[in-house]
Amino acid sequence: MTTPFAILATISTIVVLAILIFRDRDSRKQSAAEVNDWKLRLERDLKQARDERNSLLDALGDAFLLVDSDANVRFANDAARALFGARELLNRPVREAFLDPRLADALLRCIATGEPVQSRVVFPQQSSPLGDLENRGFNAWIIDAAPLSNPPGGAPTARVIIRDVTAEHQLEQVRKDFVANASHELRTPLAIINGYLENLIDDDMIDEPAMARRFLSIMRKHTDRISRIVEDMLVISRLESGEINALKIEPFRFRSCIQDILERLESVIRNQSVEMEVVMPDPGMVIHGDRFYWTQVLFNLVENAIKQNPRSGLRVEIGCAPVGENAEIWVTDNGVGIPSADLPHIFRRFFRVEKHHSQQEIKGTGLGLSIVKRAIEAHGGSIGVSSVPGSETKFLITVPRERA
Ligand code: ADP
Repeated sequence: MTTPFAILATISTIVVLAILIFRDRDSRKQSAAEVNDWKLRLERDLKQARDERNSLLDALGDAFLLVDSDANVRFANDAARALFGARELLNRPVREAFLDPRLADALLRCIATGEPVQSRVVFPQQSSPLGDLENRGFNAWIIDAAPLSNPPGGAPTARVIIRDVTAEHQLEQVRKDFVANASHELRTPLAIINGYLENLIDDDMIDEPAMARRFLSIMRKHTDRISRIVEDMLVISRLESGEINALKIEPFRFRSCIQDILERLESVIRNQSVEMEVVMPDPGMVIHGDRFYWTQVLFNLVENAIKQNPRSGLRVEIGCAPVGENAEIWVTDNGVGIPSADLPHIFRRFFRVEKHHSQQEIKGTGLGLSIVKRAIEAHGGSIGVSSVPGSETKFLITVPRERA
């Protein structure tokens, strides 16, 4: 027979067991909730770390990509996405993503060798990674690929930076052309001087005074030319140096500039019977700028008009008028003009219109208009040219009257 004590003991056991079971369930529930919490926190921290990394990499101006050991793109920053436009990059093999094999080559070599690889590629416009957005003609890129140190399993193993170096490439090209052109321009008069010196010294022409005098005067003409080229190159390099004190800005009456150059060119104007006209609705107009360079600008333009047209009946107009905050300055002539095919190149260093060459015993330096353009740009202005050969050739300058 079951005693009340046994019944009580059984009930207590059941109650204890129930409590234990409930507690265990509670604590298991609690642990599961905690694990879940940790998981969420971990995921949040991971996402935050990834977002921070991505926003840092997005802030890079250069295209930056991470790739895995199979050469699939695993990450591309904003600049990379902008570079490749609409093309899908993520999880695609680099060969497909980059299209041009020359872009992918450095990266593939880096993955294969485990060594950093840098290469520089120059594309014609149609092969640019920028596609239709490319409008600079030749474009240059540096591909800088390097393996990542200790990547965790399955994670990206290499990074690549694609840097647009088109501006530097163009500058380098301009510099190379400048050196090549300058050497060529200097070599010609030097060779002539050398030839005459040989005649004088080796062929004993020095004993024939009339001949020697003639040779010396030719040599002087060519040394003058060398000096002019060197001086022009120095002016250009000063203007291009971007030095703040390259210009001495002060207010001056533009009329005084015109007066100066008319005096300097007086004898050529008279000899060639050039009809000069000055158009200045406001004769007291003041410009803030470097008077030295403005005189040079005007001198080069008017001298060109006269020099290119050694015939009578030439009419040259110098004009200057205020237009709002700006001044418009122009030089026009009714001479031979500039063929339309040459107009886009006319401000390039050492550029000369071919057919004009034969008209002159000694050609110009081809640097005059280059100086004109740079001097005007240094004053915050611009210059344009239009030409109807035989009718009107017009150089038109627009420049702020006061410098900001
Ligand atoms: P240059 O020292 O040869 O004059 P510039 O740079 O001043 O060099 O001019 C470049 C070329 O532009 C000249 O060689 C000439 O062929 C052409 N040119 C410039 N101004 C005129 C003009 N007013 N009329 C015709 N041709 C011009």
